[in-house]
Amino acid sequence: MNTRITSRAAITDGRGGFQIDTTEVAAPGPGEVRVRIAASGLCHTDHQSLTWDGPLVMGHEGAGYVEALGEGVTHLTHGSPVLLNWAIPCGECPQCGRGSANVCDRSMGVKPELGSPRAREGHTRWQGRSIQRAFNLGTFSEYTLVRAEAVTPLPATVPLDRACILGCGVMTGVGSVVNVAKVQPGESVAVVGCGGVGLSTIQGARIAGAGQVIAIDRNPDALARARQFGATHLLQAPLEDPQGEQLLALLKAITDGRGADYAFEATGVHALAFLPLKLVRHGGMALQLSGAHGERTVSLFDFWWDKRYVVPLYGGCQPERDFPRLVDWWQNGQLDLDGMVSRFYSLDELPQALDDLLSGRNIKGVVRFE
Ligand SMILES: [Zn+2]
Ligand SMILES: [Zn+2]
Repeated sequence: MNTRITSRAAITDGRGGFQIDTTEVAAPGPGEVRVRIAASGLCHTDHQSLTWDGPLVMGHEGAGYVEALGEGVTHLTHGSPVLLNWAIPCGECPQCGRGSANVCDRSMGVKPELGSPRAREGHTRWQGRSIQRAFNLGTFSEYTLVRAEAVTPLPATVPLDRACILGCGVMTGVGSVVNVAKVQPGESVAVVGCGGVGLSTIQGARIAGAGQVIAIDRNPDALARARQFGATHLLQAPLEDPQGEQLLALLKAITDGRGADYAFEATGVHALAFLPLKLVRHGGMALQLSGAHGERTVSLFDFWWDKRYVVPLYGGCQPERDFPRLVDWWQNGQLDLDGMVSRFYSLDELPQALDDLLSGRNIKGVVRFE
């Protein structure tokens, strides 16, 4: 397998549009793997990628099969199923060394010459030129060439059209509960926003044995879904409540007047980034999972007293530890992935899939390649 192959892929122009076209994917060099993608989930980042520097192969939460192996890759075998991981760790920097691979010093290509997560220049070509891929993966493509550190083996028995969503939203939600907050049995958890990440957070809280799992959303349908994934209490957020005071009163009524031990914000609404600080008790932990950016003003009173505010990246993902554990929870029925995937699409149906994403019709949509 030393030849370039052609691949159908979704390519954004970086100006809001995209097309399905043919790319060429190189044979793997040392330390690289070529993967035949089986399925790739969608999340809001995929929509945002339409305005990143283009042209760019889209997609970042994928699963597939090892199609060709480069020299020196020994932990994988040809044809075996794998999960792709967008926070590609280098395995050598101080962060990787201390077990914080999700914030690897080199994972965003800071020092490519020191072990970049990126496959070499020219790995993928489009219209005769080298093209980059979202998060150095580009999973809306039949094939992709990645660093071996970007893939984790999966058991042969798991359906890849569901396993693919482990690689982003599920990891973020569940991991933020079990790895970052480290919720203990009996503790109380509030989750603001019941989309894909919020529902994964709720599942994580259930798996951790939280005593109260309080789902908060404006949309009654979203709250009904939250119940199905493990919420013990449902709070419909008041529409006119800019300071969150009404919501806090509702929450206190079910937490003995104290607030929750942990509150997670997973709405994607930047204005709500600091809301979880209000919802936790003294000494509680507020976690913002939306990746909110830009400027927000917060009152220092909201930190009183002993409150911690954390913005976890990717649920603290350590691929070798976390992906096998998520698969185990899925296989023994503790983690519901089937219920998380609302609809499957072909690659040609990606426009519809993005429409459904933006309108909130799905928990998760998944593009299937087989
Ligand atoms: Zn590293
Ligand atoms: Zn994502």
